[in-house]
Amino acid sequence: MNNLALFGWNSDLFQLKQESTYSNLFHGRVSAVNKTNYEIMSENGLLFCELAGNLLFGMSAFELPCTGDWVIFQPFDDNKGIIVDILSRTHTLYRRKSGTISDKQAIASHIDKAFIVQSLDANFNPRRTERFMAQVLEENIQPVLILTKSDLDFNRQDIDESLKHLTSNVQVFYTSIHSTESIVLVRESILPGETIVCIGSSGVGKSSLVNALCERTVLLTSETSNATGKGRHTSTRREMVLMDGSGVLIDTPGVREFGLALETPETLEDVFDFSGFAGSCRFDNCAHLSEPGCAVKNAVDNGLLEPRVYESYLKLRKESWHFSVSEHDRRKRDKSFSKIGEEAKRIKKR
Ligand code: GDP
Ligand code: ZN
Repeated sequence: MNNLALFGWNSDLFQLKQESTYSNLFHGRVSAVNKTNYEIMSENGLLFCELAGNLLFGMSAFELPCTGDWVIFQPFDDNKGIIVDILSRTHTLYRRKSGTISDKQAIASHIDKAFIVQSLDANFNPRRTERFMAQVLEENIQPVLILTKSDLDFNRQDIDESLKHLTSNVQVFYTSIHSTESIVLVRESILPGETIVCIGSSGVGKSSLVNALCERTVLLTSETSNATGKGRHTSTRREMVLMDGSGVLIDTPGVREFGLALETPETLEDVFDFSGFAGSCRFDNCAHLSEPGCAVKNAVDNGLLEPRVYESYLKLRKESWHFSVSEHDRRKRDKSFSKIGEEAKRIKKR
């Protein structure tokens, strides 16, 4: 029998399950999603499930199960089942659905830490780190920056310098799959039962890192897939892997564009460390946009803060503002739609 505590099952989740109409059925964790098929890790091993019709048609796309969700299911046959309920989510990593202004997409849920993976070559980009950090911090997930391929040529001083404006919320690791010590440090930072999502562009070494942390080949990397002639694994499914004795790792496919889905643009204050200047902004709630007496803008003018850092802050602030305002409008619209629905039902009853 599978011990689901290793996969993060705990007393809080147990309590949540008791509140469900289906608390007498089985529970499990979504380990991969293939369109409308869900792989569920349960006490009896892996099951392949579909969603009950009322869930499938009664929910917005972002509410449908994602990797990491805990669900309740009715088993049938040997290894099949139907998902009848989803335990409410916490610490979910979302992103804005590409091509939309305010639609969000759930990437993984019930996440403790996010490994923001970048390689120390041309891929390294502090702007992307800020973007990921913002989205991760929005849901109180702990961001960890993993800088991979540290066996390559790079200038440590330049890298550290380009990250110094980030708040101390983010922990930084330099790793190489060719340096066991560097991997051990990351492994030791993972607590039993913790769930970690790995995010980053394709080719930065996410799968290699997961394999190194697990000390076995659990995911195909571009190397192994080339060697076996199976081709690069470019599927859109997300994969959940259990580390030896502790920790659940969720690998995500590299996305070209990671749009922000921030409902509280103030989260950006947790990404950028303006504390040295912001204390003396004229207004306590200064958003450092165009307020008079803004210490952050003064710092840019006086050469104390790099203009590109401030520009990045403005860009993310604008993007999240667009999202949150549209999201607010959408909710208002949904509310009035449901009011119309209720009114229609009332009229029908008469
Ligand atoms: P993913 O797309 O992020 O999952 O990246 P992969 O794990 O498939 O790795 C992409 C390429 O980078 C492969 O050729 C790996 O062998 C290589 N790679 C991964 N980690 C390291 C590392 O620490 N050092 C070096 N030099 N190459 C690495
Ligand atoms: Zn200010």
